[in-house]
Amino acid sequence: MSQLEGKLGIVFGVANKRSIAWAIAQAWHRAGARLAFTYQGERLKENVEELVGTFGPDTLLLPCDVTKDEDIDRVFAEVGAKFGQLHLLLHSVAFAPKAALEGEFINTSREAFRISHDVSAYSLIALARGAAPLMTAGGSIVAMTYYGSEKVVPHYNVMGVAKASLESSTRYLAYDLGTKKIRVNCISAGPVNTLAARGIAGFTEMLNHYEAHSPLRRNVLPEELGATGTFLASDGAAAITGQVLYVDCGYQIMGM
Ligand code: NAP
Repeated sequence: MSQLEGKLGIVFGVANKRSIAWAIAQAWHRAGARLAFTYQGERLKENVEELVGTFGPDTLLLPCDVTKDEDIDRVFAEVGAKFGQLHLLLHSVAFAPKAALEGEFINTSREAFRISHDVSAYSLIALARGAAPLMTAGGSIVAMTYYGSEKVVPHYNVMGVAKASLESSTRYLAYDLGTKKIRVNCISAGPVNTLAARGIAGFTEMLNHYEAHSPLRRNVLPEELGATGTFLASDGAAAITGQVLYVDCGYQIMGM
């Protein structure tokens, strides 16, 4: 039997075919899961519609701006009506204003700090709260994070602080939801060339640096993130919760 046969999941954060969410969704789908998707705005609708259409014409696709409680409420009401239950949730959503990812961290504005944390960290709490009542047979919530949460990565700036909040939220959610057999974990991915990543000043330099200095001397592949996402969603990870798993070709262990 496929690893995720019979599982029902929802994926937040597919913007295009390069999105990490798309790599994990494809892996979940191949492992047997049935998935619903959300997209942020009309701008992306057509793109995402085309991608998720490859999973079958009746694939549920809903608009959701994660900063809007009414959007989140509507998404889980519609998923509940269509699926009746939920086992998997992927949080692959982040945003910081471009200016905040270019200059010095000390110049982070109050508004850039607020919006980065709202979209990139608070949203995990709101989505977990929406999903939990549907995860009646337990579940797995997976969020995407980055090493800039714990070490200074030049230009990552306020996004690093938001990722620290996301990782800490993961631990508190894991505690709250543990008795319901809902697990919450983060995948800390090495750099991947996506739309969001290209907004970070010096991103190409980051790719080159990982290739030169990680123990495996290369960058992570999207399909490897898909494989880890499938593992975390599967019963093989039944006793793993509240963790940050580094899928970065080993870069995180290096001191120099
Ligand atoms: P991506 O394809 O651009 O995905 C980011 C997604 O977040 C997009 O679908 C984006 O939609 C969505 N989003 C932004 N604001 C939103 C909002 N208010 N409501 C709903 N959705 C919103 O880039 P990605 O690299 O795959 O990023 C996915 C996750 O992986 C992020 O959490 C990122 O921090 C994390 N990550 C990425 C890397 C990397 O190197 N790429 C490494 C480690 C971790 P719009 O396009 O409409 O804004």
